[in-house]
Amino acid sequence: MSNVIINRAETSKIESVDFENLTFGNTFTDHMLVCDFRNGQWEQPVIQPYAPFLIDPSAKIFHYGQAIFEGMKAYKDEHDDVWLFRPDQNYDRFNKSAVRLAMPEIPEEVFIDGLKQLIQIEKEWVKKGNGNSLYIRPFMIAIGSGVIAAPSTQYRFMIILSPAKSYYSGEVKVIIAEHFSRAANGGIGAAKAAGNYSAQFYPTKLANEAGFQQIIWTDDATHTKLEEAGTMNVFFRINDTLYTAPTSERILDGVTRKSLIELAARENIKVEERSVLVAELVEAAENGTLKEIFGAGTAAVVNPIVGFSFQDKYHELPKIENSFALELKSKLTGIQRKELEDTFGWTVKV
Ligand SMILES: *Cc1c(COP(=O)(O)O)cnc(C)c1O
Repeated sequence: MSNVIINRAETSKIESVDFENLTFGNTFTDHMLVCDFRNGQWEQPVIQPYAPFLIDPSAKIFHYGQAIFEGMKAYKDEHDDVWLFRPDQNYDRFNKSAVRLAMPEIPEEVFIDGLKQLIQIEKEWVKKGNGNSLYIRPFMIAIGSGVIAAPSTQYRFMIILSPAKSYYSGEVKVIIAEHFSRAANGGIGAAKAAGNYSAQFYPTKLANEAGFQQIIWTDDATHTKLEEAGTMNVFFRINDTLYTAPTSERILDGVTRKSLIELAARENIKVEERSVLVAELVEAAENGTLKEIFGAGTAAVVNPIVGFSFQDKYHELPKIENSFALELKSKLTGIQRKELEDTFGWTVKV
């Protein structure tokens, strides 16, 4: 384990938290991990009380948006052991995002070992059973000052933790993007960059006003290929085959997506990684072969979609008995929570 300095909080907030009524991402644990990059190197990581901090108003993060993040979860099993799900994947992706945003890569000792030490200190915050988890948010921002458009020389890496209940977003209706784009070839769509999210807020707001919860993004050049659903990867079930777009410069390489693909293969559900055309989806909806659409991402794991709109026509999906979305969700969450055997070696003990 790396040399983490630990400054413990004098008191804990845990008694004041209503774990039955948590709003996703609004409650944070007592401590956070902080590690600064200065003079060309990472300094010693510190675990310290969760609190606001000062940054210079001219810091690059505010002006040029050098910011990346990750999202992962920890679960507590019935023996009170805490487990991470494929943290190596998040670590690798974080450093790919860092490279794309001209930020320094973080050492594994800081990201993985630091995270384990932080969770060890916050073990009480990870609740057992009942859809409970601890949402983990590692992120990095440019803290170097100066309003000159160049990469910062100083960065701050942090990890904050938020207890979560299972994520239920209600019935999700989506609209297929015909004008706006989430990502473009040569852009930063494959990085988990903060700016990808801010760029989605306005089109998503318009979609919300039109009665849709999310947008299904299409390729920026032609708007004919289906790519992602909101901030999730997306799967389509036509007859008994699942389709999802291959990862590309425009598509985030989701850990949930790749895990579902492997899991489906094990469960003898046919999966094809190929682009699905908007026209194909409309045709499948009209001839009744489109059975399911669902988003895949860490927060919700699997998020079923009830219908989609394209060119002002709404297509409602059928209610089906043997939903692949629900089957795969229950298998995947079973593995994550250590209720089902992890034949893949995906779970890592804290
Ligand atoms: C984070 C994210 C996902 C899902 O990735 P997971 O690793 O499964 O959580 C999918 N699409 C976008 C755009 C994302 O930012």
